[in-house]
Amino acid sequence: MQGTEDILGHRAVIDRLWAALSRDALHHAYLFEGPSGLGKHLVARRLAMAANCEAVDADGVDPARHPCGVCPSCRAILRGEHADVIELGPDPDKKTPTITVSQVREVVRQVGYHRYTGRRRVVIVDPAEAMAAPAANALLKTLEEPPEGTGFILVAHSASSLLPTIVSRCQRVRFAAVPVEALEGWLQDNGHADGPILARLALGRPGAALALSDGGLDARRALRDQVIRHIERGDLGDLFELSKGICAGDRQAWLVEVERVLELLEDGLRDAVVVASGEPVELLDGEASDQAARWADALWPTGIARLQQSLEDARAGLARNASGRVVLDALFLRFSSELGRL
Ligand SMILES: [Zn+2]
Repeated sequence: MQGTEDILGHRAVIDRLWAALSRDALHHAYLFEGPSGLGKHLVARRLAMAANCEAVDADGVDPARHPCGVCPSCRAILRGEHADVIELGPDPDKKTPTITVSQVREVVRQVGYHRYTGRRRVVIVDPAEAMAAPAANALLKTLEEPPEGTGFILVAHSASSLLPTIVSRCQRVRFAAVPVEALEGWLQDNGHADGPILARLALGRPGAALALSDGGLDARRALRDQVIRHIERGDLGDLFELSKGICAGDRQAWLVEVERVLELLEDGLRDAVVVASGEPVELLDGEASDQAARWADALWPTGIARLQQSLEDARAGLARNASGRVVLDALFLRFSSELGRL
């Protein structure tokens, strides 16, 4: 049985959804909210499997509706090939993650047809914030009144990035971070060395921990060392070269890299706060404790607040389609200057 037991955390959310499923009372539009790497997509897909699992159909012995993971329906969903489970994601041809109006119209057209084989048609839209206003508007009517037996699951970082008209049509389901100790244990049980550091750096997000474990931890170390060294040296030419290097390639590619830089700077500030406050709390990045001490000395408290604001501004700029180099150049300058290196 595949069930849901292997999913780390989110027990209350899962219990609630599965209770609705077993009463045949799933809402026609859910909004799964929370930071990336928590397992929102995994839960959405597992719910689609549970709603359509043939093993449950055949013998009817599983009132809790655990998806078996091996029947033709479950396997088709896992392969992304089930005719009634539609995954709507960004158009790969676009430079920024975008779900286009024509993609949405195609899905609306598809759900207008009779279901193929499935008991319940499920449309998973992930990330829902990739729908700009025209695409979101094209979905509104169907989201409000989908055809019989069809349900939507929108997956988003936060509801604030979506049109209020979309949010108001959905039942909101909030996903929270998994306790770090639980994530640490789970990583170790699954054979990941570095469990403790992965769990802390991932801030309780299992998917983020797995990504770090998969060669990402070494990559993060290398990037951290490079970025911190340059910022602390404060050589303008070097800093601009660095942001140029990070932003090589197309937007989809460098956005990932820039987000990594923002995260490790955020982690650095958080650890500086821990050091400055003297609280007996473990650092996110224990390997960079010297840096945390230097930053605590130089930045606490107002410099840290200003740099946290700069990080927010950087994210807002990227969301408005600003160039990665412009955003990183400005950010690196702020950090160097707050650290007194310029
Ligand atoms: Zn099954």
